Amino acid sequence: MKQPISRRTFLKATAFAGAVASVGPFPSLAFEADRPLQTRPSWIDRPMRWAQLTLVEDDPGKFDLQFWLDYFKHTHSDAVCLSAGGCVAFYPTKIPFHHRSAWLGDSDPFGDLVKGCRQLNMVVVARTDPHATYDDVQAAHPDWIAVDASGTKRRHWASPEMWVTCGLGPYNFEFMTEVKKEIMSRYLVDAIFINRWDGSGMCYCEHCRKKFKDASGLDLPRTSNPQDPSRRAYILWRQQRLFDLWQLWDNEARKINPDSCVIPNTGGGATSSLDMKRIGEMSEMLVADRQARRGLAAPWMNGKSAKEFRATMGRKPVIGLFSVGVEEPERWKDSVQSDAEIRVWVAEGIANGMRPWFSKFSGVLHDERWLKAVDEIYQWHYSADKYLRNVAPLARVAMVYSQQTGWFYVNERMPLEDHALGWYQALIEARIPFEMVHDRLLDAEHLAQFKTLILPNIAALSYQQCDRLRAFVKRGGSIVATYETSLYDEWGMKRTDFGLGDLFGCSFKGKVEGPMQNSYLRLEHEAAPGHPMLKGLEDAPRIINGVWRLEVEPREQFANTPLTLIPSYPDLPMEKVYPRVVKTDKSQLFLREYGAGRVVYFPWDIDRTFWEVLSVDHLKLLRNAVEWATNEEPAVTVTGPGVLDVTVWRQKDSMTVHLVNLTNPMMMKGPLRELISIGPQTVRVRLPEGRQPRKVRLLAAGEAPLTEVSRQYLSVKVASILDHEVVAIDL
Ligand SMILES: [Zn+2]
Repeated sequence: MKQPISRRTFLKATAFAGAVASVGPFPSLAFEADRPLQTRPSWIDRPMRWAQLTLVEDDPGKFDLQFWLDYFKHTHSDAVCLSAGGCVAFYPTKIPFHHRSAWLGDSDPFGDLVKGCRQLNMVVVARTDPHATYDDVQAAHPDWIAVDASGTKRRHWASPEMWVTCGLGPYNFEFMTEVKKEIMSRYLVDAIFINRWDGSGMCYCEHCRKKFKDASGLDLPRTSNPQDPSRRAYILWRQQRLFDLWQLWDNEARKINPDSCVIPNTGGGATSSLDMKRIGEMSEMLVADRQARRGLAAPWMNGKSAKEFRATMGRKPVIGLFSVGVEEPERWKDSVQSDAEIRVWVAEGIANGMRPWFSKFSGVLHDERWLKAVDEIYQWHYSADKYLRNVAPLARVAMVYSQQTGWFYVNERMPLEDHALGWYQALIEARIPFEMVHDRLLDAEHLAQFKTLILPNIAALSYQQCDRLRAFVKRGGSIVATYETSLYDEWGMKRTDFGLGDLFGCSFKGKVEGPMQNSYLRLEHEAAPGHPMLKGLEDAPRIINGVWRLEVEPREQFANTPLTLIPSYPDLPMEKVYPRVVKTDKSQLFLREYGAGRVVYFPWDIDRTFWEVLSVDHLKLLRNAVEWATNEEPAVTVTGPGVLDVTVWRQKDSMTVHLVNLTNPMMMKGPLRELISIGPQTVRVRLPEGRQPRKVRLLAAGEAPLTEVSRQYLSVKVASILDHEVVAIDL
């Protein structure tokens, strides 16, 4: 086994103790797997449907235990997460300062639930939450409490009679370890789920100050600027501390029950603070906690979360934790969403490879309207079980996401995710199946299935990552990149030129223009007649530009460009609104071929602008760029009206095409009022080499559709889709 570099050596050896400008090694060195190989719990791949019952303190003696057991059974839930301890103990704990529910008396509701669920042959997971505690703890162990930047101990923001605990100090490392050992010893559960275990924002307590100083030689940061040396070191140090904590808890749980593990609750994606590559290495399964949409989230956000987790988890189970309530900042935790909203949100997770996990707070139900929707989803899921045990997605396109760009790249004018969100919406509308790829898994093995990689302003890339992308193109892969991709190193330090300038075929000239008012793109139909990038835009002389662009200079001679800049001109007074320059030779799109590989580079923020404006002209450019780059017959095409998320999968003896119907007036701002059926659709799917379909079924309609096989392709007629249809092809 590789000798791990200790964190201390790492921090001393790199930029953290010295100048910011000196570029340290890739962050992965700090997170090199130093964990002994664990045995995989024997039950880990069995559960397909999960339930969670989070008790509230006054539930004991009040809630109807048999009702819940009956519901678990009826929904074919084969695993359950039950409240055990931490903030409130729902069993007769003996650990000092472990607060028993004031309603507990002599009862053991956790133990009763465990027993009942075991009789149903369910996998049983104990839920713990360490983030808040009480006055007696504060009095006896004042150093367990989180401290704010002014040095004041933090009261809980929502329950002011409580205290916020420090996530990185002895409260978690010592007290909560004892709690976990007690739960595991008493009940021998299959796993322990750790909720809100990673602290509640910055903590300036004595332990955090000292431990950070010992590791980095620095004081805790007072700024959120990632270019501040202390903040930069803290971003990595906090992660290492949390990985140590997770490993400690996991080891202690397995000492008591070797067939168990600890399951951390984590966020995901480019904006999450814990390295997902490392999480993927450490976890046997993972729970993606994106409970419902909020604000202007699109319903496909649940599918995006699934793709992001699977990017680092591979084939290990990824479970999609959904709530049935409204998930806005006001946190109406006892609320219930419409059936339509619950159904489409969960369908997005399932279609993208997650197993569902419903989460309900409070054993006493204040509103029962959600029960039917979840029951129907789970009943269907059970009936389709074998077609939902995916072996691999068959998408040929993937979009890269980059946590290091999220951690270290600073661009206050552009929310980091907007580029990716624009691409995501475009790929959904274009019905192109795709995956997501973590930027630290760009090796040949992880990219083997893909023909095209999309880089949505992946600004921060190391030279090593650039080399891997170069190798991908050399092997025949294609790249579509936008804006500042590779213009920064892995620490978010700006380069003088793109790391991928040789692939793009152009150099950065040092100037960023924007925000641009009233700027356009001229479509060069005469110079580039019938150009594939202009498909669907044949009658358009010009279209709107983006909002930000980089001044670039070609490094070589390009073929006639289909897209040139029409610079900004006044947008008021109206008498002055006429182009001062009608034509330039500034190309706004660079297309190159490298053997079988192709590279498309947009030196402007087409993806971010698309997310802001949703111009159909930009949609066509984005779609055309992926089609031109991919340059092969698609694995699946779906023809018909409406907006569909299309995913395509291989199972052991079958393949599936999922179609989630997102066609709804409330698509871009939920919640949905009703499901609106669409159809008909024609699905044309490439069959695996040398295989013929033995049987084709529509798993929602429950019928055999009209089919036709021609060469390597199967065509299927789907008459209508309400929320979610699955074409299941036995091979
Ligand atoms: Zn602390």
